[in-house]
Order: sequence, then C-alpha cells, then structure tokens
Amino acid sequence: MAEGWVLGIESTAHTFSFGLVDSNGIPRPSVSKIIRPTTGGIHPREAADHHVVESTEIFSKILADNDLLPSDISVVAYSQGPGMGACLRTGAAAARAISSHLNVPLIGVNHCVAHIEIGRQQCGCEDPILLYVSGGNTQVIARLDGRYRVLGETLDIGIGNMLDKFARQHGIPFPGGPVIEQRALEWIGKNPEATLEGLELPYAVHGMDLAFSGIMSAANKLVSDGMPFEAVCWSLQEHAFAACVEVAERALAHTGKKEIVLGGGVACNERMRQMSSIMCEERGAESYCPPKMYCIDNGTMIARLGWLEMNHGRVTSLIQSGINQELRTDQTSITWP
Ligand code: AMP
Ligand code: MG
Repeated sequence: MAEGWVLGIESTAHTFSFGLVDSNGIPRPSVSKIIRPTTGGIHPREAADHHVVESTEIFSKILADNDLLPSDISVVAYSQGPGMGACLRTGAAAARAISSHLNVPLIGVNHCVAHIEIGRQQCGCEDPILLYVSGGNTQVIARLDGRYRVLGETLDIGIGNMLDKFARQHGIPFPGGPVIEQRALEWIGKNPEATLEGLELPYAVHGMDLAFSGIMSAANKLVSDGMPFEAVCWSLQEHAFAACVEVAERALAHTGKKEIVLGGGVACNERMRQMSSIMCEERGAESYCPPKMYCIDNGTMIARLGWLEMNHGRVTSLIQSGINQELRTDQTSITWP
C-alpha cells in the first residue's frame, strides 16, 4: 500500500489539472485550468504554454485546499498518453520535476484507463463496459484477459470534437458541447412534440465503430438550408448519442456484461446519461455516471490509476518516462482485480 498521498497530473489537451488520492486511494477533487480560445480550436503549443503558466498556481492550490505540504506527497502520477504531444510533455516535465525534487516515485499512466478506473471507483461497479465519450476520443471498452479492449471506436473525430466544431461554425467558442445541450433543451422545451422529420442526419454506426464527420457536415447543411439552429442541435444530439449507446448495447450483448459506466466530457450531457439509462433499463443492465467533475479530464483520475499501479508494483523510471501521443487503451496491462 502506498503511504502518503498520490498526486495526479493531467495534461493531455485543453485541461491542466492536479488531483490527489489518499493512501487508501480515496479521491479528492482536482484543481484545474482549461484553455478557452476565443477563436478557433485548441492549438497544442498554445495549450502547452497555458499549462506552463498555470502550473505553479494549480500546484499551490491543490496543496492548500487539502492542508498538505509538498513532503506529504509520496508518488507522482501523470498522463503519459494518448494526447497532444506538446501538452503531454508539459505534464510529464512537471511530474519529473516534482518527483525528483521530493525524491518520490514517478508513474506514467494511460489517460483512457484512468477514465475507466475513476468511473469504477466512483460508481462502485465491478466489470463495466466503458462508454468513453470525450473531446478527442470515442471508444467502447471492455476488460478481457488483463487488458481493456477497444470493442468499437470512432473512425474519424471524437464526438466532443464534432460538437465543438459544429458549435464553432455557428459562432460558439470552445467548449461547444454544453451550449449545444442548452440549445437542444430550449428546442424540446418549446416543442415537446417535436419529431426528427426534416431533421434527419446520417447514421454514425459502422459495424461496432462510429464516425462523426459526416453527421457534422449534414448538420451544418441543415442550418444553412434554414432549419432553426436549436432544432439542429437537438437532432444532432439525438442521432450522435443514439449511435454511441447502440454500440455500447451491442458490447453488452456480445460480452454478457451487465454494467455500463460513462466517461469523458460528453458524459456530462444529461441526454446522453438518460439514453444510456433507458437502454440499460430495457435490457436488465445498470448504467452508471460518475459525478461530472470526474467525467471531464481531471488530475484525480490520474492519481487514482497511479495509486492502483503503485500498489501492484509498477513505477516509471526516468528513462521510461517519455510521453506516447499514440498510446492505445489496450497497450496497458491491467494487473489489479
Ligand atoms: P474531455 O475531452 O473529456 O475533457 O471533454 C471535453 C469535451 O466534452 C468537449 O468536447 C466538450 O464540448 C464536451 N462536453 C462537456 N460538457 C458537455 C455537455 N454537457 N454536453 C456535451 N458535450 C460536453
Ligand atoms: Mg479524456
């Protein structure tokens, strides 16, 4: 068992976040800063510069919030991949600096696996299918033979990226997903009997995989053809979320598992949560949603996975501590129950 606190550093993309778990692996809320460009998308170099500027304040605040001194930290975990290279390097550099200054072990972890493990910890589920819907990633994942296997995933862009890009086309800055959720709610609030007639979009399911760029172009076309923006937001959510939930349902059917846990920023969306719950209810399964602060990217999930890895004998030497932008979910071996 690790003694003292595990610090987790998340820096795969737009969010720089420090979180903690105690020696029993119990999470504490993260301290995070998110870059929000006023125009355009996330530029990796600008995001990395943002993370550097914010790092001292975030580190001081996470310690102060928890009444800790740097010397109370006994392990430093960080996201080793996948993500944007420049951003990952910033987090890894901060982790190396803190770990060598304090002379404590370093653990590089897999960001996607961290989403699963914080979901399991928060929701108390045993062996779930993870529906991982974030900005850059969209995957349906199940554990089998000591790995989390990707049963289906996006063939092009992540679902959150799709929502953000669609929003940006219509003047809404990053992150667009929450604004689309509000607009969709406004539409359905004013039109409770609304149907998808005239608002049809392409189907995003391709076997067990998904694809979102076609659905985004078609949604843009609906707006330019004169459909109300709110109506298109609603239709976009209905189509895109149904596709994700369908692949998750197939994964349940195929594996015989009985639980789904949602993860990633798009899992903050109430309609996404509702659709997953309805599907699970219909087939006698259980749908779990972690608190929103643990769905979005956060340092606490990195600390939690670092704690698990540490207690199962893994540490990362300096020489192995380089980042891996392309790290796959199933490259990380899972040695804990
Ligand atoms: P992540 O990459 O996991 O940190 O999540 C960020 C992504 O989640 C961005 O693409 C956001 O637009 C998206 N997101 C956050 N909240 C919501 C929401 N309520 N509805 C839809 N998408 C959301
Ligand atoms: Mg993520």
